[in-house]
Amino acid sequence: MQVFDIDRALELYNKGLSLGKVGEHFGVSQQTIKRRLQLMGITIRKQSGNQSGENNPAWKGGTSRAHINRTTKRVCIENGVPLNQCQNCGKVFPHNLNRHHKDEDRSNNKIENIEVLCVKCHNSGWFGAKHNRIRNALGRFE
Ligand SMILES: [Zn+2]
Repeated sequence: MQVFDIDRALELYNKGLSLGKVGEHFGVSQQTIKRRLQLMGITIRKQSGNQSGENNPAWKGGTSRAHINRTTKRVCIENGVPLNQCQNCGKVFPHNLNRHHKDEDRSNNKIENIEVLCVKCHNSGWFGAKHNRIRNALGRFE
């Protein structure tokens, strides 16, 4: 790891290294490099193919957790689904509950695919059964 030097960073970046790789070189985040270069008036390249999507180390199934949270929240609100009531047991909680994607595809944010579930129901056999998973004698999924 080298001491961060913006001129050196720019040099590496101009050689074709990705922001992530330049960051790695100095032990700082890709965002830091991006910000520093932009401050210098450098135009940031579009991420090359092998750094996007599934190849990116930050890939989380299409979208970030915070983004998923915001999206599912908005979908529930738009469809009049209470965020604090479990759709399985019907219990109302003083806080917002987990939104669960029925098909486990976090990019499928149709209301039909989102269930608001309390922790108990989310972790319960009911949830497991829905996914055709069978618990063995030890209570573990087969
Ligand atoms: Zn519940």
